Amino acid sequence: MRSVASPPHPPVPVVALAGNPNAGKTSLFNALTGQSQHVGNYPGVTVDKISGFAAVDGHQLEIVDLPGTYSLTAYSLEEVVTRDFVLKNKPDVVVDVVDSTNLERNLYLLLQFQELGVPVVGALNMTDEAEHKGIHIDVPLLSKLLGIPLVQTVGSKGTGKDALLKAVLDVVAARVDTAERHLNYGPELEERHEDVVEALRSDDSFAGKYSLHWTAIKLLEDDADAVAKVKQAHADPERVLSVARRATAWVRKHFGKDPEVVVAEQRYAYIRGALREAVKTDPRPANALDPTDLVDTVILHRYLGVPIFFLAMGALYSLTFLAGSPLSDLVAAGFAWLGRVVTSALPTGVLREFLVNGIIAGVGGVLTFFPIVLLLFLGLSFLEDVGYMARAAFVMDKFLHLFGLHGRSFIPLMVSTGCAVPGVMSARTLVNPKDRALTVLISPLMMCGAKTPVIAMLCAAFFPRHAAILFWIVWLFGWALAFVLGFAFRKTLFRGEDSPFVMELPPYRLPTLRGISQHMWQRSWSYVKKAGTFILASSMVIWALLNYPKTEHETQEHAAKVAAVDTRAADALAAPGLSPKLRAHIEADRNAAIRAIDTEQRMQVARESLAGRVGRAIEPITRIAGFDWKLNVALLSGIAAKEVIISTLGILYGVGDMSADAESAAHSPSPLRHRLASDPDYSPVGALALMIFVMVYVPCIATLGVTRKELGSFKWPAFMAAFTLAVAFTLAVLIYQIGRLIV
Ligand code: GDP
Ligand code: MG
Repeated sequence: MRSVASPPHPPVPVVALAGNPNAGKTSLFNALTGQSQHVGNYPGVTVDKISGFAAVDGHQLEIVDLPGTYSLTAYSLEEVVTRDFVLKNKPDVVVDVVDSTNLERNLYLLLQFQELGVPVVGALNMTDEAEHKGIHIDVPLLSKLLGIPLVQTVGSKGTGKDALLKAVLDVVAARVDTAERHLNYGPELEERHEDVVEALRSDDSFAGKYSLHWTAIKLLEDDADAVAKVKQAHADPERVLSVARRATAWVRKHFGKDPEVVVAEQRYAYIRGALREAVKTDPRPANALDPTDLVDTVILHRYLGVPIFFLAMGALYSLTFLAGSPLSDLVAAGFAWLGRVVTSALPTGVLREFLVNGIIAGVGGVLTFFPIVLLLFLGLSFLEDVGYMARAAFVMDKFLHLFGLHGRSFIPLMVSTGCAVPGVMSARTLVNPKDRALTVLISPLMMCGAKTPVIAMLCAAFFPRHAAILFWIVWLFGWALAFVLGFAFRKTLFRGEDSPFVMELPPYRLPTLRGISQHMWQRSWSYVKKAGTFILASSMVIWALLNYPKTEHETQEHAAKVAAVDTRAADALAAPGLSPKLRAHIEADRNAAIRAIDTEQRMQVARESLAGRVGRAIEPITRIAGFDWKLNVALLSGIAAKEVIISTLGILYGVGDMSADAESAAHSPSPLRHRLASDPDYSPVGALALMIFVMVYVPCIATLGVTRKELGSFKWPAFMAAFTLAVAFTLAVLIYQIGRLIV
């Protein structure tokens, strides 16, 4: 076959979505591209840029969702990502998403894009809320005043997206010019500004590459980046910088303020002027209480805020556990049925053993907990979308400071309660490298979606009556330990001051069903996907490691035992005149006996297997914490991913082989927890030590990998693995030894 060269396409125009955090960029992005990226009423969610495609009138457009920023200075990573993208990738159009309920602050960024000289369109988003609040915008007038095309949108519903795309196309086709600056800095500043522009203009090649206006205004603001750029790229930096210095000195003297402040004030003054002309706001009845304020006085209360957060989470976790457990049992029953079907369909042998006690036990064991994980994510998505999480971050800010942690650390920690991998990544929002490394190190101590099933199972097995509350206590313990270790690291490894930050408080919003379900589904789906891929592969490997090497002697011994039982049963059945009932009874007895032999055999083989030998080799040490060789194997394999702990125990106990006790399986469809609870080697005290160990010890490989990537050195994941192991073991030993004395 010969490939035919396709006719060259004109390049697809690139449209960058920018705007303040929470203005609805991602919602609009999803509406335009039909994707379902994480929409969050929560800062720091979209750290990276994401892209997709949209079509209008037969034209293709590439849309890029940028992180939220208030300005284009370089104070935070979001600002740097956005500014770099706009300057280096030169998108054809920037769509600045504006929160119409907060025009004054949002237009600030819009005007900065215009000043930067990039083609820009404003999406006046949250139109529905603005109308609700009685804010009436004369869009054509405002658009004319600013010199920027404006389109009203409702991102969460997709309203106005076509009009927006058309406005974008007009700008792309250069039918509309947005570059002409309407903003005026007032006669005094304008004059200084003109001096600097004049000095810059002396070099033609510089003028060709950079916006002179923007560079000049940045020089007036004394922006380090702009100074560096002039030094590097301008033919006569000395002269330019001396003119700029004279100008800033004049501004400082004349206004008695920092030039940067003066420039910002002038921008705001201009915006306020434009808004006065083009926006009318209904007066609010004097006695009307804003419900947001009312709720916030409680939720953001100085002392109550933090306990409210932990209690709200406790309620969520306990409810999830209570509501999820029966559903979880249903799923377990489903896998039990599957195990029985496969068992009866296949002859005895390695294949059956592999399918039933390798795959079904391993993967099924993990999927059993899916309902709990799903409900948990549902609850978290709701709290996030309703606007609570941003407030929790606000409240926790001060609390985190007590432990020497940055307020922004809350977001990575909270994200880590879903999964530490995105948690570690979201630590990028911390600008200071020390704050960032510190946050990354403590993020894996949270209870993540993978530890959830392990902890839930142990709680249910050993503390059936207080499972829900204990589950929450263990969750709390993760936070507490993160705070304590964070404090210790701050005092030793990362000495220094933590820097303050401003937390956005979005209004409370009734979340949309679509938003929440999308949100929940994204997180839950990755749980299922992981079970079907990574956990499946791990289960196969572990099954093999627990079954081989198998000695000929063991196999023969097993066959002989089974044969003896068979013969005995056959003899009994041969007796004349047996009633059908008695017959069934004898057969049931025989099956039970064979299964008992199977179970014993499985343990025996596992003990002598490769994995079993490793587990037993370290038993002398781990005994101090109450871990026997079986737990050692499970915990070692849990470094791959924490769910694998469940898979390994499931394989060890042969829980896929439901027929092993079909009788009791019918009544207790979650046999792993029953088998653990009835294993004489384990006790509630041991289970507690185990739970804490699981919470703390070595993060999974994915987390270690992303830590290396984010912090740029193998030293960090190595240190992380070492300290978590040391702390986890110490805690487990303390709990086990002290617990044994007390109980
Ligand atoms: P981003 O931070 O700018 O990406 O904002 P998101 O797209 O994550 O949106 C923040 C929140 O505002 C989410 O809860 C959205 O559902 C909600 N939202 C987005 N656009 C609108 C809108 O036009 N009207 C209303 N009422 N809510 C919106
Ligand atoms: Mg976003």
